[in-house]
Amino acid sequence: MPAESPARAAREAFANWVEEHPGGRLFGQVLVRREGAGYSIRHVDDRERTGLKVYEDPRSAREIARLTADGQHRPLKSSPNLWRGWEIRVVDRAALAVAMNYLYPAGIVHWYLLREGSLPVTHFRENAARQSGIYERVRDLSDAAVRDAVRACCADEVCLKRVMWDVDRDVPLGVERGSGEIPCPEPCSLFVSFARRVRLFEREERYADEAGLTPSEREDLAALVEAAASGEIRFAREAEFEKPVNERRMRYRRLTLVPKLLRSG
Ligand code: SF4
Repeated sequence: MPAESPARAAREAFANWVEEHPGGRLFGQVLVRREGAGYSIRHVDDRERTGLKVYEDPRSAREIARLTADGQHRPLKSSPNLWRGWEIRVVDRAALAVAMNYLYPAGIVHWYLLREGSLPVTHFRENAARQSGIYERVRDLSDAAVRDAVRACCADEVCLKRVMWDVDRDVPLGVERGSGEIPCPEPCSLFVSFARRVRLFEREERYADEAGLTPSEREDLAALVEAAASGEIRFAREAEFEKPVNERRMRYRRLTLVPKLLRSG
């Protein structure tokens, strides 16, 4: 008899896990509940809300996952920026898996493999060694910068996955990994892009001025003052790390620039 495929086994295990808990299960940013003979999926903050827009096709999850509430593209499906006001009602386990895979691609298979103790993990250095072109230099990132990049890019405030990889096979990550149900088995492309920006920041240290500030740190401070003075601070898009007022870039500055400013005071 052929072995059961991981996707099918994951689908069954996930549905069983949901059914074990009458109040539903939190997975990423959605609440999944048994509802009659089928399942209901909604934004967790809509737990008690009525009058939601109901979708009965599991593929509607693709549209729901595509944009934020203010119409911006969501490059990272595990970001906690799903819009609210919808409910997906599906009739069976297969449809539940389809909807979940649009909301969190590969999420339930990774969740299942982790529970089974067979999730393959690729550490940062292994991933970096495979990069080419403009991303090749991420392999030069220091261990400390990898850790700061994870704090800035992967924490629960900005990504609901739990980091399973380390800096390298024998170099532990040593930072908060997140608390969600969905494991992250390998640095994603958004992280690699952010790591590239952090590498540029590291290289700039040689051009620091007498106050110890690098050109991009000065640029970020100026942009923040300008934005605050205009009374409207608008974040750049999620993956626009080249722009000063990007959330992850600001989170990185909090780790590296703020201590510098406080020291020089
Ligand atoms: S690498 Fe970080 S940002 Fe990317 S999916 Fe994993 S935890 Fe989230």
